[in-house]
Amino acid sequence: MLNFSNTYAQLGDEFYQRVRPTPVAKPELLMFNRELAESLGLNEALQDHSDLIASYFSGNELPEGCDPIALAYSGHQFGHMNPQLGDGRAHLLGEVLDNDGKRFDIQLKGSGPTRYSRQGDGRCALGPAIREFLMSEAMHALGVPTSRCLAVVATGESVYRDRSRPGAIVTRVAASHIRVGTFQYFAIRGQQESLTKLLDYTINRHFPEIGVDAEDKVLRFLEAVMARQITLIVEWMRVGFIHGVMNTDNTLICGDTIDYGPCAMMGTYHPGTVYSSIDEHGRYAFGNQPSIALWNITRLAECLVSLIDNDEKTAVDLAQSLLQEYNVRFETAYFDMFAKKLGLIGSVPNSHELIVDLLAKMKDKQLDYTHTFARLTQSLHDNILAEEMKTELGSWYESWRACIDNCEEGSDCAEKQMASNNPVVIPRNHHIEAVLLACEETGRTEAADELLKVLRSPYKTLTETLNYQDLPEDGDRYYRTFCGT
Ligand code: AMP
Ligand code: MG
Repeated sequence: MLNFSNTYAQLGDEFYQRVRPTPVAKPELLMFNRELAESLGLNEALQDHSDLIASYFSGNELPEGCDPIALAYSGHQFGHMNPQLGDGRAHLLGEVLDNDGKRFDIQLKGSGPTRYSRQGDGRCALGPAIREFLMSEAMHALGVPTSRCLAVVATGESVYRDRSRPGAIVTRVAASHIRVGTFQYFAIRGQQESLTKLLDYTINRHFPEIGVDAEDKVLRFLEAVMARQITLIVEWMRVGFIHGVMNTDNTLICGDTIDYGPCAMMGTYHPGTVYSSIDEHGRYAFGNQPSIALWNITRLAECLVSLIDNDEKTAVDLAQSLLQEYNVRFETAYFDMFAKKLGLIGSVPNSHELIVDLLAKMKDKQLDYTHTFARLTQSLHDNILAEEMKTELGSWYESWRACIDNCEEGSDCAEKQMASNNPVVIPRNHHIEAVLLACEETGRTEAADELLKVLRSPYKTLTETLNYQDLPEDGDRYYRTFCGT
């Protein structure tokens, strides 16, 4: 079906539990990602056999060559260490090389209990499964590094959450599932040998340019992880994504987005925006994401101290001086990103000021984040809109326009840059909720497919795009998300 290999399973028993998915009553294929399937070389003959696909991606039938395991990991959840997490409702079937030779994990989620389930039932409800499919596909189309979904299969069984809900299994495709929490798992247990094994495996898989024999490999690894986190968080900030549960077990070393549980898109701009009902103190608010990423990388660095240098003080000093660079590196990437959103090409002397002032104005005037940048883009060729925005944003608009109009490359070039950095449509919370409700009530996924078509072209206005661009009536002030279990 797929050409499976199992390099993670070869690491040794301490890394996982070998365990099979628990079969489900009546698997039915609801969503399938053909483009992704093709890139992974899924047998073409199989693509039209939805019953077989449902059987494989529910775990009822195990494809040849897979070796299902539940991975062990720990993690800081809302700042508190939980030593015993792990895949409590997921099975890694194995890995597959895509058409470019890049290795991907194929994981079932909601596929039954494991040693790591604790009180959980090992299952997943249909709503959160479809939500993960929609959100991750939207993020991928937006250009944000992310894990993706290959399939959603209804189980024909109910799961009990706030009430009885239809159950589903989602197949996740990720560059790997190695988390900061995976390193923590071995570090807190003092399992040095396994920690080194994990480090070398991760370097080979994600950062082969470092080389496992390099003397400074640990610091270079940390630096590479830091660079990927900076890219990731800057991209989240660009599109207004709030992850909602940036625990260290939800932070992938490869720098892709994972765990779409309580995530949401920011409507009205405010750095303090929080939608997750479990994030009582706003630890993971929109504007806190950059500093939380540093907090998480610092936890990773702590795991690796003993491998950096035999002398602890030397090791800590080396790690600290690297981590101290985070803020400057982040700011540079962050302002570069906003310069692109505003079409500021080349070195514009007052660009930082323009960016900071605009964000302050948006906060003051409670403007919608996506809509404002999309309108600024459009205003470059729409004089009526330009006048409107001049009234709305006052002298800021005139200063900004002066920069664009004086740009050597010409305003066309600026507009092009803005159009490819400012989406015209995002997966707005009220649309996602409406679609999930429709899918749950009907057991069918047409509503999700329609939305998906638009979300797959976030920088283009299709005929159907208009149906999904309206702003939430309350600016999402009362919107709440729940951990998608
Ligand atoms: P998450 O909130 O998805 O990051 O999950 C945190 C931990 O809880 C992980 O170890 C999950 O495997 C586990 N978990 C979440 N939901 C369930 C469930 N329904 N059954 C078993 N384990 C679960
Ligand atoms: Mg998680």
